[in-house]
Amino acid sequence: MTEQRSRDEVKQQVREASDIVEIIGEVVSLRRAGNNFVGMCPFHADRKTPSFSVSHQGQFFHCFGCGESGDVFSFLMKYHQMSFPEALEHLARRSHIELPAAGGAGRGEADPRPRLFAVNEQAALLYQRCLLESREGQPGRDYLARRGCPPEAIRRYRLGYAPSQDQVGWQYLISRLARQGMSERELEQAGLAVRGDQGRGYDRFRDRLLFPIFDLSGRVCGFGGRILGDGQPKYMNSPETPVFDKGRLLLGLAQHRDEIRRRRRVVVVEGNFDMLSLAVAGMDYVVAPLGTALTRQQLRLIKGLVDEVLLFFDGDAAGIKAAMRAVPLVLAERIKARVATLPAGDDPDSLVRRQGREAVEGLLDEARPLADFVLEALIRQHGLSLEGKARIVGELRPIIAEAGDEAERELMISHWAAGLGLYSGDRILNSLEFRSCPRNTTALRPPAAPPPPRTAPSSEAGPETMPLAQRQLLDHLILYPEHLDELCAGGALELLSASSAREIVVAQQGLAAAGCLQPERLLECLPDGMARRYVARLLFSPASAVPPEAEQEEAASRLRAMHAWLGRMRREQQSRELLARITAAQQAGDQAEVLALLARKQGLDRGSEG
Ligand SMILES: [Zn+2]
Repeated sequence: MTEQRSRDEVKQQVREASDIVEIIGEVVSLRRAGNNFVGMCPFHADRKTPSFSVSHQGQFFHCFGCGESGDVFSFLMKYHQMSFPEALEHLARRSHIELPAAGGAGRGEADPRPRLFAVNEQAALLYQRCLLESREGQPGRDYLARRGCPPEAIRRYRLGYAPSQDQVGWQYLISRLARQGMSERELEQAGLAVRGDQGRGYDRFRDRLLFPIFDLSGRVCGFGGRILGDGQPKYMNSPETPVFDKGRLLLGLAQHRDEIRRRRRVVVVEGNFDMLSLAVAGMDYVVAPLGTALTRQQLRLIKGLVDEVLLFFDGDAAGIKAAMRAVPLVLAERIKARVATLPAGDDPDSLVRRQGREAVEGLLDEARPLADFVLEALIRQHGLSLEGKARIVGELRPIIAEAGDEAERELMISHWAAGLGLYSGDRILNSLEFRSCPRNTTALRPPAAPPPPRTAPSSEAGPETMPLAQRQLLDHLILYPEHLDELCAGGALELLSASSAREIVVAQQGLAAAGCLQPERLLECLPDGMARRYVARLLFSPASAVPPEAEQEEAASRLRAMHAWLGRMRREQQSRELLARITAAQQAGDQAEVLALLARKQGLDRGSEG
């Protein structure tokens, strides 16, 4: 009871000691707006509107775009996917508040993580002492000296060395940490020891140079190690543990965060030594994922700090693959990214040591936007013949399918399609077998009272700004051109409020008159702009496949719904027109006209009720 109360008190204390503006400001760029702070929402896709507001006074955030809101705990939980205890601990550490020990009766297993952090910390200290001071550390010191890494860097990155078993046996770490009361079992849990066949434990890292890997609050979560001898594997990380999730950590971020934030850019390299060598050369705005492809969580750690991410990859096939894999992530996280590639045979480490920082920064300055880079690489690989384009589209399609939302998909498609000249002739289109009839998942339900197109439509507004029912009508007209005449006779064209939407329908009518009504043909005859982008996006939207046998029935039921809606809209529009005329007649004092019009309007309203 008292313990529970004290935990609640601590929670309150931590909340009060934490500044939500500062916490969120680490990952989202916020600017002051009156009493509040605003920025781009990290939870929904919108590149333009700073709808995300943070109240300093109330210590909460709210997004007016997607409705996400909460306090500092819920932000950490949602954005960094922390559990509540993790968020509490993270904030308590920042404010130097001691948390009451977890555990106690009825609480089940105590949280193992504080202990694992402690074990990792002790291991890092021991390995570093070994590297800096001990006789066994000589191979590590020699190696780093050969690579031009000075002692200051060793201290800054807290590098360490795990000596070889030939020198110190198999329990170097285990025996030393045991003296500090850390059990073999705990080392095993932390990924630092491995249990052998005989049940006897041995050190996981031997004859390896070690990079401790830190989390946002500077705790050692695990290690990345490079072998110095001939052993295998060359690189080895700690295994996944309750504190080491390598997809959510970045090597170098703990040390470089301030510089990254100051420069508003970050360079992502592939290897630990690439990171280290560039940093030693003075480029301390570099991070490295831990031997795997970049993840979305890793991008989230940096995106709020920077205006752009520079991916520094090998120019070979693997580098291109890595770049391709990054496209959907970068788009989904709405990050500007460019790719710089290395000369054949070089990595950032060798390049910076041979040619210096200027050469590397020169390459980075020439980095290509990610999407262009991917397309250019594929064109080099496959060529621009019809067959080549088909292969390229085949490779791009899975990337497109991973887009976070429609806007990103549209962006990729319009970008790449233009680069491939994809809309220039239908033979190419046919050879690429573009999806011609995607279907929306939601059944079509014309809303009971759709907002009518009141005013003259702005020529600026794209079809996507139209009310849902109008968009459904437009989509139907694009996807089922066979219903075009029928629906246009019912007044469909006039009911579309966006001029670009009407542009599409008029183009469609032109195609119908020419007798070539494939949806894809529509793309060719629309000028580049909102209308064409809308159609492209619709045609590429992932089909929530309607089985062919159900398709006809689906189309027919949609058509019926369209007709019913059109009829209602027509009557409403007439009713509105009558109302305007009645008002005018009243102002003109023409009583007879008012009465006549009112009678017509009543008739109309009765009809629409029936
Ligand atoms: Zn939002």
